[in-house]
Amino acid sequence: MATLEIKDLHAEVETEEGSKEILTGVNLTVSSGETHAFMGPNGSGKSTLAYAIAGHPKYNVTSGSVLLDGEEVLEMSVDERARAGLFLAMQYPVEVPGVSMSNFLRSAATATRGEAPQIRHWVKEVKQAMGNLEIDESFSERSVNEGFSGGEKKRHEILQLDLLDPKFAILDETDSGLDVDALRVVSDGINRYRESGDKGVLLITHYTRILKHIKPDYVHVFVGGQVVESGGPELADELEESGYVRFANKKEATV
Ligand code: ADP
Ligand code: MG
Ligand code: MG
Repeated sequence: MATLEIKDLHAEVETEEGSKEILTGVNLTVSSGETHAFMGPNGSGKSTLAYAIAGHPKYNVTSGSVLLDGEEVLEMSVDERARAGLFLAMQYPVEVPGVSMSNFLRSAATATRGEAPQIRHWVKEVKQAMGNLEIDESFSERSVNEGFSGGEKKRHEILQLDLLDPKFAILDETDSGLDVDALRVVSDGINRYRESGDKGVLLITHYTRILKHIKPDYVHVFVGGQVVESGGPELADELEESGYVRFANKKEATV
């Protein structure tokens, strides 16, 4: 069994007025086979957590650790993180003009698998994965993320998930900006990934609606840069009913 352990993680972001502490001690363990919904209000630091784990240069980890099967992720290069089996959806958020999707995906697969996939097999794999996600074939010749709509970017994330087959996936707001049909296609893709093996998923989200499609095993409420409550799926139902207010007070009570 594989584990991803986040231990007392503190991180700050570089702003124009200097650095500002956003993560104030995050503790969370995700084991293979588990899906954790990570829910918090706007500005609570959810994306900061994802960026800190991804090693984004704007986010400085000041203390704590992130261990993947006991190995310190924070000391790994971005490629090493991918090779170790960690998938961060925001790893390649940028547009890469002149690099086609098909070349990009093949290099990413080569980096994570340690060898280039055989071209005939690869073409089939990509075609099937794109078909599952209802992605048009012309997509593979487009430049990475260039002019992609919000929905296309999200489908592209799930396409990578399918092809790269990581042990752990951290998905940040995968549901944002999706219409009902796209939400179904993307959720089905995440569920296929989950069922493809003993995968660990950290599903970061602001809204509960994606949890109608993807059933989490655990739900964490994240306020003010730390997890203030953890529970089962019923916790998401409570958030749906009454929002984050009760939890916001809880954070104040603890500091
Ligand atoms: P969430 O994803 O939960 O909405 P974020 O992690 O995006 O929250 O942001 C947490 C806090 O950190 C917010 O107050 C936000 O304004 C600030 N922040 C995040 N990234 C930056 C940045 N690059 N520059 C300045 N402030 C930032
Ligand atoms: Mg935000
Ligand atoms: Mg965010």
